[in-house]
Amino acid sequence: MGWPDWADPLAVQSLRDHVRSERIGHAYLLAGPKGLGKAALASAFAQSLCCTESDADDRSRPCSACRACRNVARRTHVDVEWFDLASQTSLDKEASATSLSIDTVRRLRGSAALFPLEASRRVIVVDDAETLLEPAQQALLKTLEEPPPAVTILLLSDDSEALLETVRSRCQEVRVRPVSESTIVRALAERGIDEREATTIAALSRGAPGWAIAAVADERLKRSRLEELDAARSWLQGEPYERLVTAYKLGEQFGKRRDDVIGVVLAAVQLLRERMFQAADSEPGAAGIGVALAASLRCLSDLEANVRPRLALEAMVMQWPRLDPPPG
Ligand SMILES: [Zn+2]
Repeated sequence: MGWPDWADPLAVQSLRDHVRSERIGHAYLLAGPKGLGKAALASAFAQSLCCTESDADDRSRPCSACRACRNVARRTHVDVEWFDLASQTSLDKEASATSLSIDTVRRLRGSAALFPLEASRRVIVVDDAETLLEPAQQALLKTLEEPPPAVTILLLSDDSEALLETVRSRCQEVRVRPVSESTIVRALAERGIDEREATTIAALSRGAPGWAIAAVADERLKRSRLEELDAARSWLQGEPYERLVTAYKLGEQFGKRRDDVIGVVLAAVQLLRERMFQAADSEPGAAGIGVALAASLRCLSDLEANVRPRLALEAMVMQWPRLDPPPG
């Protein structure tokens, strides 16, 4: 435990700087796609605040071994409380499994009002924060506007756009970005994964080390990425009319299979990026691929913001140049 050496170094740096300078904010928003290690960062941050044996020269370095550090890692520390979809349904079998409720925010407010018992602050982590519906966010806003003195709230969100501007503006936002494939290969090698397997997984990871570590143990994750790549490959290589039909179908499915549709578009972006490098001496050339890539990234941001998915997908494929299968 301690700070994950595989996560976005800028995010780690930024959080550690806050601990070192002893200017701990009342609320942080850790924002970035799934699998980048936001929960590991929150846990390390909480350890830094709770550790009883931390480095005297650098308070941001928890020992990872004292009782406080171990309890934070096990999520049993009295002053660190986690709220997420899983804890919501385990407390209340009737509760929604897809959105954090106003009841959960009420529990959070009760928890934030307690005085710390062992550490100097209470730390409240809200994972899956992108699933807070608007009334729940409004309730949370009250706590963010008048935070109890010794409390730090960490919101972890896969999609910071899903949060109200008023909520975001009360938080210090820390962007958690994807890391390089070589960082992921190294993290996997340190876990005893052989280099070939590590390289294969890293190439499928889209820069998400948390995903890569999970994929080592779960073959299904790897398989579903490979399926997305296959689907994207045949979509890209299709005739213009077939491409539109596929765009239409995926647009119709978007409401029910949002993550799957976004996954296929992400795979198309990955394939177009790879084509960029081979495009110098082949048709349609780097400029054509560049246009297709820009259109695909625009579509992706529309999909992530839930903006007219079918139109976004159709507009994207209209910008794709003719792509033959690569030689070999
Ligand atoms: Zn410690």
